[in-house]
Amino acid sequence: MLGRIMDNQLLISGLLQHADFTSGDREIVTRTVEGPIHRYTYHDAHKRARQMANALQALGVQLGDRIATMAWNTYRHFEVYYAVSGIGAVTHTLNPRLHASQLAYIMNHAEDAFVFVDLNLISLIENVADELRGLKGVIVMTDRDHMPETTLANVYCYEELIDSHSDEFEWPRFDENTASSLCYTSGTTGNPKGALFSHRSTMIHAYASALPDVLHMGESEVILPVVPMFHVNAWGIPYGATMVGAKLVFPGPKLDGASIHELLVQEDVTFAAGVPTIWLMLLAHWRETSSSAPALKRTVIGGSACPESMIREFQDDYGVEVRHAWGMTETSPLGSVSIPKPSMTDDATRLRKQTKQGRPVFGVEMRITDDAGKALPHDGKAFGDLQVRGPWIIDNYFKMDQSDAHSPDGWFATGDVATIDPDGYMEITDRSKDVIKSGGEWISSIEIENLAVSHPDVTQAAVIGVPHPKWDERPLLVVVPADGKSPSHAELTAFLSDKLAKWCLPDDTVYIDELPLGATGKVLKTKLREQFGDHKLPTA
Ligand code: ADP
Repeated sequence: MLGRIMDNQLLISGLLQHADFTSGDREIVTRTVEGPIHRYTYHDAHKRARQMANALQALGVQLGDRIATMAWNTYRHFEVYYAVSGIGAVTHTLNPRLHASQLAYIMNHAEDAFVFVDLNLISLIENVADELRGLKGVIVMTDRDHMPETTLANVYCYEELIDSHSDEFEWPRFDENTASSLCYTSGTTGNPKGALFSHRSTMIHAYASALPDVLHMGESEVILPVVPMFHVNAWGIPYGATMVGAKLVFPGPKLDGASIHELLVQEDVTFAAGVPTIWLMLLAHWRETSSSAPALKRTVIGGSACPESMIREFQDDYGVEVRHAWGMTETSPLGSVSIPKPSMTDDATRLRKQTKQGRPVFGVEMRITDDAGKALPHDGKAFGDLQVRGPWIIDNYFKMDQSDAHSPDGWFATGDVATIDPDGYMEITDRSKDVIKSGGEWISSIEIENLAVSHPDVTQAAVIGVPHPKWDERPLLVVVPADGKSPSHAELTAFLSDKLAKWCLPDDTVYIDELPLGATGKVLKTKLREQFGDHKLPTA
């Protein structure tokens, strides 16, 4: 017997419509690409998204068409999210840090029909324009006065498109399983693969993200997503924040510590989200200028492991709660969040739990398995492949017939290696390809890295496995020293030795000016292995 409830479809357009109705006067503030601060309201955003929806339909955009964006976090990008998905087309966000060959590959693979591009990113599209098959036009996200000279064909001005269309628009209704947005993983090996989200998956993810023990979003919050809208939809914040009518603050192209600090203070931001590298810059700025952001209550940190020293500095020195979160493009991305349980009252226990990647958000099921696919115990010691399933986790990649990332019983294999403790906290010990195999035992590179960066003379650290005649592989520590410092290998191992088992200590240390970062701001261990893979260890 079925329940007697309306079968209304969960559609993304409903979010903005709702925010206009309930929180129409709540602000959306942007540091624009042109420079000045722009402010308007959910009511204005909804009106302009409807105008853009009319414009897109006039350009011939149809249900299912892929429409790309190459853009920073701004109010115009926000409007495009809603206009494109709202008419049933697919918002395909492009990462400006991708290599030109990858960009051309992705745009052709997605068959993008139009691309929205920010003023200072046009050259990236110009560079690949000759290779793009099927692109019908380019919309430059600015007004007439700022329109640049360009070699591109079929160029439109964003503000002119909006101005020339009415805001009379009825959002269409369609199946909630319709594709809404597309994001390619950076693909450190092989070609990038597309995660294709649906209206349904995005909406359920938005409900979950707003929960108090997830991102804690509500109308009274002022939210600054530093995490880019081109990286897994800024972790879903443009949807979740709209669902609850929170004030949104978009940082535009300026992501340095001083610029982020300025927005945090001027707009009384209560909650900000980003990867650890962004917070390193902000914390350095605060230290150098003896400043802070008094209204800031909470940061969500994810994308890479958040070191304990960062959690401590935010919480102890500035009173900002850290929520360490784990996820990936394929998981929309929220998978788990680490918040200590109310029963955990002891500071050391709370901190230890926060360095883990946390407990799954309701909707995500999690398990760790051995090589044979057998589930491993939750004892905090056994580690294996982390697998997940749930209503916002991909069941395949875009345009792929078969996935090599799914188990025979339908779980998604994340490629992460993890433990799960008896309290339900998951801890990533490595990417499976980064794990160091020493004499049949696995050494966690993340654990060593997190401890190494808490040394005062170390700014950043990475650990890779290098070949060893006896042990197969041994850890090599790669360090970016703090300004003017040169910590020796002996000093560093002495520092690590009371925190790590002896056989996990790095065999040698090498120094580097900066760590190579990939398109999503993560350390490229492939590059480090190319550079230091044949490093001769003193123990070899
Ligand atoms: P890409 O795969 O394109 O680099 P993703 O954001 O999808 O970008 O990366 C997901 C991966 O990032 C995860 O599988 C995991 O290895 C890593 N990751 C994400 N969050 C954390 C975290 N809190 N701690 C450790 N690793 C993390």
